[in-house]
Amino acid sequence: MKLVILGPPGAGKGTQSKKIVERYNIPHISTGDILREHISLGTDLGKEAKGYMDQGTLVPDSLVLSLVQERISRDDTKNGFLLDGFPRNVSQAVSLDAELDKLGINLDKVINIVVDPKELISRATSRRVCSECGATYNVVAKPPKVEGKCDFDGADLITRSDDKEETVSVRIQVYTDQTSPLIDYYKAQGTLFDVDGSQSIDEVTKDIFEGLDK
Ligand code: ADP
Ligand code: ADP
Repeated sequence: MKLVILGPPGAGKGTQSKKIVERYNIPHISTGDILREHISLGTDLGKEAKGYMDQGTLVPDSLVLSLVQERISRDDTKNGFLLDGFPRNVSQAVSLDAELDKLGINLDKVINIVVDPKELISRATSRRVCSECGATYNVVAKPPKVEGKCDFDGADLITRSDDKEETVSVRIQVYTDQTSPLIDYYKAQGTLFDVDGSQSIDEVTKDIFEGLDK
């Protein structure tokens, strides 16, 4: 299963990705998570990416492409992978196609999670993430068992620095301008299917699994 999950910020890509990768036993490749890891480790790449991420704009393609190339060529992607947050614009999608071509593989499916923009702002501003393991919660829809603490490791939950309302609005605009053209791009390839992301987390998962089983 070689998959891409698409959708605006806060649509539920990370939440659904966790369930998909468990079902297929494939690695979850989230460029946002990889970039945040670089920032927390203080690498040169992290330093370069941080300014863009804090503003809600895209990190330059050159930085992201080399990360993804390196990641998808590792041995653990033999049974497939799930790309989350990549590609983010048409130029990244074209580069991904070229890279997959070189490896002699194709994408099987592209999952497109559709959610109303108003709902996205409230989801993102109520998102909390574990400062240690990155697990995602929501103070409204998916609270942790103990307030402010991760269910898995008990570490503090934090708000992502780009989940402020103003920055989320910028990110939604960036999605509309630069990422949403990928919907037509993958429709033309015949790989994309839509999922109604306004449903509960479990209902969305059910629809995704049905779409992947087709
Ligand atoms: P993305 O990776 O697309 O930015 P996340 O998976 O991090 O989105 O979800 C954004 C926020 O919305 C999180 O706080 C998550 O717990 C919550 N969330 C995810 N799916 C749903 C859903 N179907 N209904 C309500 N809240 C959701
Ligand atoms: P979300 O889950 O809300 O959609 P991500 O965690 O995927 O957000 O991304 C957070 C930020 O990381 C983006 O706003 C952008 O600055 C940067 N980023 C992540 N993936 C990419 C990418 N493929 N190309 C450029 N920038 C990226």
